[in-house]
Amino acid sequence: MKETPKKRVLFLFSDTGGGHRAATEAMIEALDLEYPGAFTTAAVDFLRDYFPSPLKYAPEIYSKLSKVPSAWGLPYEVMDGGRRVRTVTKVAYPYIRRGMQRLLRENPADLIVSVHPLANNTLVRSMKKHPSPFITVVTDMVSTHAFWFDRHADLVVVPTDLAKSRGIHFGISEGNLRVIGLPVADKFNQPMANRAAWRRSHGWDRDIPVALLVGGGDGMGPVLRVAKAVNNAEVPIQLAVICGRNASLKADLEAINWKIPAHIYGFTTEMPQFMGASDILVTKAGPGTICEGFISGLPIILYARLDGQEEGNVDYVVQHKAGVWAPRPREVVDALQDWVANPAHRAAAAKISRSLARPRAAREIAAVIAEQCGVAK
Ligand code: UDP
Repeated sequence: MKETPKKRVLFLFSDTGGGHRAATEAMIEALDLEYPGAFTTAAVDFLRDYFPSPLKYAPEIYSKLSKVPSAWGLPYEVMDGGRRVRTVTKVAYPYIRRGMQRLLRENPADLIVSVHPLANNTLVRSMKKHPSPFITVVTDMVSTHAFWFDRHADLVVVPTDLAKSRGIHFGISEGNLRVIGLPVADKFNQPMANRAAWRRSHGWDRDIPVALLVGGGDGMGPVLRVAKAVNNAEVPIQLAVICGRNASLKADLEAINWKIPAHIYGFTTEMPQFMGASDILVTKAGPGTICEGFISGLPIILYARLDGQEEGNVDYVVQHKAGVWAPRPREVVDALQDWVANPAHRAAAAKISRSLARPRAAREIAAVIAEQCGVAK
């Protein structure tokens, strides 16, 4: 009997931060779980591998720029308009055309999934003569930039109703927008087999609440200042700090004279376990980390955000009362003191956090991909 050929799905992401890669991996995992053997997948960092310099250095540029979150807001807002996006793409296109066309030649696919705002318009231009089906999976939560939305997309998947409104504002028809959620690794959905044993194996005290301090994939924002403030105030917690790819941050943290129990880590592939074993999440307002925190039922303290891009995430968390906005290290200390002294406050925020979770998002997006490719279960 002839075997049905596998459908080829090409994901376009870039390592500008950790969120686009994490979302891509979550969707690939969900395709394997829901439709074993039905797809072959490729994930391409299109900026790094196919764009000329300086654009190919976008991951490094993002990591540097995001150290000054306030510098992010102006360019973000100046570009945030449908016509402006089209103009910028038109001007930049001659420069990136060859790379984009090579990408499409080298990665033939039955469906392209864009997981990055800069992929959409350039993709549409590159496919003018030979259009392929493509969908966009928006990995920003609320303040979703105009770059995400191109009317030629066959479907745009968004994480919230607010992001859907932005899509409509930028001319996407309601029928081409689907609110599903942000795709997150399946492991976040699995309860920890033995939380106490995991804590013990990592040298964490069994009884002292753990605040998990994270700065996205690149250890961004004033992580060091926050950690020092918590240490100096001797907040009765233990601190677990994930530095991501920021090696100098890790070294600086390790050099601190700790007065409270502290555990310092570099980039981890065990974020589901870290969150499952923690009691409080202290993070910059990255959408991936926030949504993972929701699934893990963690109350959230947001200590930094990228102006423009992540402002909506802060409002979302604060307005729902899943957490607090604490842009000064002193405010992080106050929030932690409150949640340690009043476990009921912490539990209330944790309950709301969990209620905002969309644990099935990755699997639902896998179903959308299957539908677009004509694959049945
Ligand atoms: N992350 C990880 N290991 C680390 C640090 C971060 O897997 O050591 C993941 C984190 O779980 C999340 C992503 O990187 O999925 C960060 O995404 P987010 O949208 O929060 O921020 P970004 O880094 O994209 O600005």
